[in-house]
Amino acid sequence: MKTVLITGAAGFLGSHLCDKFIAEGFKVIGMDNLITGDKRNLEHLFKLEQFDFYHHDVTKFVHVAGKVDYILHFASPASPIDYLKIPIQTLKVGSLGTHNLLGLAKEKDARFMIASTSEVYGDPQVHPQKETYYGNVNTIGPRGVYDEAKRFQESITMAYHRFHGLDTRIARIFNTYGPRMRLNDGRVIPAFIGQALRGEDLTVFGDGLQTRSFCYVQDQVEGLYRLLMSDYTKPVNIGNPEEITILDFAKEIIKLTGTEQKIIYKELPKDDPLQREPDISLARKILGWEPKVSRADGMKVTYDYFKSLSKEELHKSEH
Ligand code: NAD
Ligand code: UDP
Repeated sequence: MKTVLITGAAGFLGSHLCDKFIAEGFKVIGMDNLITGDKRNLEHLFKLEQFDFYHHDVTKFVHVAGKVDYILHFASPASPIDYLKIPIQTLKVGSLGTHNLLGLAKEKDARFMIASTSEVYGDPQVHPQKETYYGNVNTIGPRGVYDEAKRFQESITMAYHRFHGLDTRIARIFNTYGPRMRLNDGRVIPAFIGQALRGEDLTVFGDGLQTRSFCYVQDQVEGLYRLLMSDYTKPVNIGNPEEITILDFAKEIIKLTGTEQKIIYKELPKDDPLQREPDISLARKILGWEPKVSRADGMKVTYDYFKSLSKEELHKSEH
């Protein structure tokens, strides 16, 4: 049985990855310090013999006994309001955390994959974004702590690949959504759905003409799995290329939830990228992968998930 270590396991993507690897017959070690994650995302796995959980901060030395075949480093705050609240930890988990895990991968001779991001492209001047684009990041802006941590993460991963011959993979993940996102994590989908469920107006930042392209989590996890199992070591975009403005998206949510609330406008956060759409021709070619779940279907499942949460949970997320 192959063993995979997944950091950030109690988070949104990490917990879905744990499910995927358990389903594929792996022994899974989940590691998390629960800074933005929630153990309840893994509740259903605790009873399984092939699942183990380590409560650990990966910016501290990481030790795992026994063999490890794959390491997926997904620990990091991922939502703008999270990484603005904990900027230093965000920089540390991308830098020191990645260094620790690369060291572990070297010791165990494990294949290593990082969760990089479309944010390495910053506020892009090239559209849609191809892997060959070097990006446009404001290093000293408030979002820089996340973007630069991820850019460093890519660099140190490639250095270990070149210098130590480590087997590495770099996934550049674009906005992904689905069940187990935290209702109060501030990202646009939980924010809008939470507002609709509480009967509040939907807050569109700026004029709402900025675009994003949303990928359903099941598609994302399949793309990540295929990348890990491929032999491609350079960065690969994994996301859904269907682009929409945030304003049109707010209107879609109003329709989906049947809320009678209106749209209100708030200030656009600093350095909020104006457009984002992945060019996924590389993933199509080398992984034979593309998203299959439409936004309408994915959003329905996601809405049902948020609707099923308790009232207490819902009101905890007011901000
Ligand atoms: P999330 O906040 O739900 O999960 C992140 C997890 O990492 C949390 O459980 C948190 O407690 C854990 N964590 C943070 N710092 C840690 C540390 N020092 N030690 C141990 N655990 C720590 O976020 P997510 O959306 O699941 O994102 C997961 C990864 O994917 C992140 O690396 C993120 O940058 C990347 N990513 C996500 C998206 C997306 O749209 N969801 C897009 C691009 C990249
Ligand atoms: N956004 C918004 N209202 C909200 C939350 C977010 O208009 O209540 C916008 C945000 O300014 C950005 C987009 O939605 O343009 C996506 O934001 P998110 O935080 O989900 O992710 P990002 O892609 O910016 O990291």
